[in-house]
Amino acid sequence: MNRISHWVDGKVLEGTSGRSGVVFDPATGQQQAAVDLASAAEVDHAVAVAAKAFPEWRATNLSRRAEVMFHMRELVDANRKEIATLLTKEHGKVLGDALGEVARGLENIEFACGIPNLLKGGYSEQASTGIDVYSIKQPLGVVAGITPFNFPAMVPMWMFANALACGNTFVLKPSEKDPSASMFIGELLKQAGLPDGCFNVINGDKVAVDRLLEHPDVQAISFVGSTPIARYIYETGTKNGKRVQALGGAKNHMLVLADADLDMAADAAVSAAYGSAGERCMAISVVLASDTIADDLVAKIKDRIPAIKVGPASENGSEMGPLITGEHRDKVKGYVAGAEGEGATLVVDGRDDVPADGFFLKPSLIDNVAPGMRCYDDEIFGPVLTVTRVKGYDDGLALINSNQYGNGTAIFTRDGGAARQFEFDVQVGMVGVNVPVPVPVSYYSFGGWKSSLFGDTHMYGPEGVNFYTRTKVVTKRWPDPRTSKVDLGFPQNR
Ligand code: NAD
Repeated sequence: MNRISHWVDGKVLEGTSGRSGVVFDPATGQQQAAVDLASAAEVDHAVAVAAKAFPEWRATNLSRRAEVMFHMRELVDANRKEIATLLTKEHGKVLGDALGEVARGLENIEFACGIPNLLKGGYSEQASTGIDVYSIKQPLGVVAGITPFNFPAMVPMWMFANALACGNTFVLKPSEKDPSASMFIGELLKQAGLPDGCFNVINGDKVAVDRLLEHPDVQAISFVGSTPIARYIYETGTKNGKRVQALGGAKNHMLVLADADLDMAADAAVSAAYGSAGERCMAISVVLASDTIADDLVAKIKDRIPAIKVGPASENGSEMGPLITGEHRDKVKGYVAGAEGEGATLVVDGRDDVPADGFFLKPSLIDNVAPGMRCYDDEIFGPVLTVTRVKGYDDGLALINSNQYGNGTAIFTRDGGAARQFEFDVQVGMVGVNVPVPVPVSYYSFGGWKSSLFGDTHMYGPEGVNFYTRTKVVTKRWPDPRTSKVDLGFPQNR
């Protein structure tokens, strides 16, 4: 059995806890590897290694740090296919989708190549006579990242690129369901010239996470995962004095107004709901269809579903792979099974005719869904799209704004005024106008509102740089006998 261990101090480190987790091949349903699950002592070791590497890396000049990022950019670019293949093997997403994940992750490394510019502070000459004031952004120390199963390469890249470029050292705790991409990233960073100990991967479960949350030498935690765990990470981490950004789950609504291009809306809904088998935090899971066009829109979505090719990534033409585990697939099936009992209409039942092996489920479409039904209230995180019929803009907006989540949303309309009003009114962090999956480019920042994010800072981009640095302001003068005298008053500018 293939064994996946840890990556510490620039090399593979075999686990000693005696505990391991199962890594499945979701396309066959068989175990393909065992991953070591770290003990608290193993986490302590990784943090100690990162702490030891910090002073030298923090003192490494900006050109050199940028150079490492440039090399990493070249290496990830050259290894797109290898990384995507690892994602496909352990996560199950099809190769085209996995390549897209790598491309969107790579953007963050490219952004971090500009670190000399990003870390520039402000400077005020002659703030007082003979006195200049300036600000400096300095790294925090050892920072940790805890990542989810659904983007095993991109989400770590959201974090470590800026964290390392800012001069921090990093301990990554990836999802135990698909840890290999993180291990490979460790090797690539070493090849890129990053000194040993600056980037470490500790595989594990709650035991490892809890130790990171309480470790006195971990200065900050970036987390991406489900809302209950995000809330726990935020509360525990901040209680222990750490800086925390914890991104949680989602229920992304797409509001389709009566004047929308319905074919475009149907294409977008199908792509955004069923891509990656719905296991994306920015997937569209609810279509809010204006009453007058709802029948047409549901018919158009339904018509498109049979053409979606569900199958293993290894099979030519597969567009949608399996879910991550059998347990998760069964949970998603439960929402489909329960829908009609709650008064909804099952338009397409994705439980029919699924491949015998692996954790597959086909796309489901459920109409006439309302708040209070489980398939509306919960984050399903699978290939299930629900439709709620609304009277129009106000009705749709009210539903979005009363939802506990506020990650992404989209409006489909030809009416620029309505779209602008939507941007103004909607209580959601990332908004698409005729764009169903509005993941911001790397030079903006990613983050939801409400129960989709705990903490003040969004991830990556400029906010990522702020998260991984703290500002120091220096007020300075050089000895000048003309300005020197005893003065017990509070310093004033003059
Ligand atoms: P998860 O919350 O189960 O796990 C995320 C991480 O937390 C993993 O590394 C896991 O090992 C760890 N973890 C799990 N249970 C824990 C516990 N009890 N104590 C401490 N640590 C624990 O999430 P997942 O199933 O891997 O990922 C899917 C979820 O992530 C979905 O809810 C999805 O919406 C969300 N997600 C959000 C974003 C975003 O940007 N907001 C992006 C991707 C995924």
